[in-house]
Amino acid sequence: MNKENKEPIFEFDLSFIASFFRGIDRQGPGGDEQTLRALEFLPETGPDLRIADIGCGTGHQTEVLARHLGGTITAVDLLPEMIEGLEARMRRAGLNDRVTGLVGSMDDLPFRDGEFDLIWAEGSIYNIGFGRGLAEWRRFLKPGGVIAVTECSWLSGARLPESKFIRENFPDIDTPSAKVRILEEAGYAPLAHFALPPHCWTENYFALTAARLPAFLEEQGHSPVAVRFAELMHEEAAHYRQYGSYYGYVFYIGRKR
Ligand code: SAH
Repeated sequence: MNKENKEPIFEFDLSFIASFFRGIDRQGPGGDEQTLRALEFLPETGPDLRIADIGCGTGHQTEVLARHLGGTITAVDLLPEMIEGLEARMRRAGLNDRVTGLVGSMDDLPFRDGEFDLIWAEGSIYNIGFGRGLAEWRRFLKPGGVIAVTECSWLSGARLPESKFIRENFPDIDTPSAKVRILEEAGYAPLAHFALPPHCWTENYFALTAARLPAFLEEQGHSPVAVRFAELMHEEAAHYRQYGSYYGYVFYIGRKR
């Protein structure tokens, strides 16, 4: 996470954040159907794909990828706790021979040029910035390789009137057409983009965070910082309930030109 990142969540230290998020099944809005839909846009697949999953969290989507694609996945996250969770998940699923966890930062990846057929990043590229991530990760793809990321975007054609929440949490929010243009300018041909439906936020994410909070507050002895964190999590869900028709995650899929 960038030091200059001003999102409210960054007032907490990383191990505190990790102790909350390692306890839930996914760390951001998403859905298996949406992961699979994005996969449909791969022009070709094969038995020996090399895949990178960047900002993988505990690897919910990594498991979906591993089950539906051949080859091997390198899954990267900044937080060691997430990689521990990922590795435990892959052992349970019997996929640990095909998925390798790596603690590292998305702005300093140890990959070789042209190493990957596919780069995946659900709910994570905002940590480096959509345009910067697309541009910097491009060299890790083989010619014709594919990138698929989700990014918060305006969905309704109308923008929400000035919102402190949006400004602080999604400073780079823009329209899908503007995001597709950034993708093109970063050196990709757009293959598809589609919005994630509301249940990817409500059922697949906010329901999990709400269910985790009581036990987390207990674990933290209801410390002021934990109570503050819980408030922010509730605010995030309440903001989405009220204004979620304006914004959401969009999957952007592009092919390296
Ligand atoms: N892809 C997962 C996790 C999304 S949450 C899912 O959809 O469930 C974003 C993840 O990005 C978190 O696990 C966080 O630890 C990780 N992250 C944040 N900054 C990062 C960085 N600089 N490098 C790598 N991972 C980072």
